[in-house]
Amino acid sequence: MTPAPVSSRPSDPAAPAAAPSPNRPSLAVPPLVGASIAELTDWVKEQGQPAYRGKQLHQWIYQQGARSLEDISVFPKAWRQTMAAVPVGRSQIHYRAVARDKTVKYLLKLSDGQIIETVGIPTAKRLTVCVSSQVGCPMACDFCATGKGGFVRNLTRAEIVDQVLTVQEEFGRRVSNVVFMGMGEPLLNLDAVVGAVRSLNEDVGIGQRNLTISTVGVPGRIPALAAHQLQVTLAVSLHASNQSLRETTIPSAKHYPLTALLDDCRAYVQETGRRVTFEYTLLAQVNDTETHAAELAGLLRGFQSHVNLIPYNPISEVDYRRPSGDRAQDFLEQLEELGIAASIRQTRGLDADAACGQLRASHLEVDSDSSNLAAVD
Ligand code: SAH
Repeated sequence: MTPAPVSSRPSDPAAPAAAPSPNRPSLAVPPLVGASIAELTDWVKEQGQPAYRGKQLHQWIYQQGARSLEDISVFPKAWRQTMAAVPVGRSQIHYRAVARDKTVKYLLKLSDGQIIETVGIPTAKRLTVCVSSQVGCPMACDFCATGKGGFVRNLTRAEIVDQVLTVQEEFGRRVSNVVFMGMGEPLLNLDAVVGAVRSLNEDVGIGQRNLTISTVGVPGRIPALAAHQLQVTLAVSLHASNQSLRETTIPSAKHYPLTALLDDCRAYVQETGRRVTFEYTLLAQVNDTETHAAELAGLLRGFQSHVNLIPYNPISEVDYRRPSGDRAQDFLEQLEELGIAASIRQTRGLDADAACGQLRASHLEVDSDSSNLAAVD
């Protein structure tokens, strides 16, 4: 019998690579961002390097922000030069828009030239990153700027993790929370999203409970996410208190009735032990009346959940209106009186651009019309 290895200090470069989570999807490496210590170790060994270089590479990618293997000064010079063209998987900052409340919206340019939006939202205690999971989105929700632009492609795990590293470096402080509420429908890109969640947790060091995946609902995908047994928060974009109303703003709702969606959410709570958040974008006169609040409360009665009310951010393509602050407050109070836990999402960064997806759209069309944008780059 081989003796058990002597336990080594965490800083020991000869320490064995940490075992990856049992259900962490395996990654094609490179690009290197999004890879675990074990995957990086396998890769350096394939390149004829000693195993401990995997751990060094991991540290340089996730803690030092290396953008090229050439930057990694602890590696032998000759190897660094041979490997200079290996893609680490970092994007370029194409544009920054800084809001008065210090929220920063970034347009990031990917290796194929595609542009995505990422947002850094600071408070005294937290730094939250709103990440995109796709370039564009195929769901076409009527009030969503991204949906109006159509779908281009899924993001890779590297491209999702890169967004968080970019905001962390830009703000010079650790990211505490990540919400998958940028461009795209995360559950249509489940493998990359689950891989990114694992990497953000194990490689970047963010607690799973500080990660939120937001979905409008894709048949079969909430159970598929639940099977991964993550401790992330699931946020479901409800936006309506009944099926026919939901179909008017969310075309995909026709193929996924509210009853089936809510059954899947109940099963998710059962399987993961995590509460579900329901997002409800308030559209004046469309879904924000007393009747809607009462109907919503009826729909969610007895459900272990929390309702997050999002006052609509106007987009140019449609003429929905944002309800007044008083109306939003009344809707909230009515829900609470009916026993439903709820809150109003504070709108951040409204002066940097109107809504999610809007910055990218305006920038792709008229590059110089940035009257309400503070360009730093
Ligand atoms: N595809 C995911 C993530 C979308 S963005 C989902 O549908 O959940 C995150 C949230 O912002 C969603 O609830 C989305 O419906 C909402 N949203 C989109 N456009 C909006 C707008 N103009 N005003 C307010 N909320 C909006």
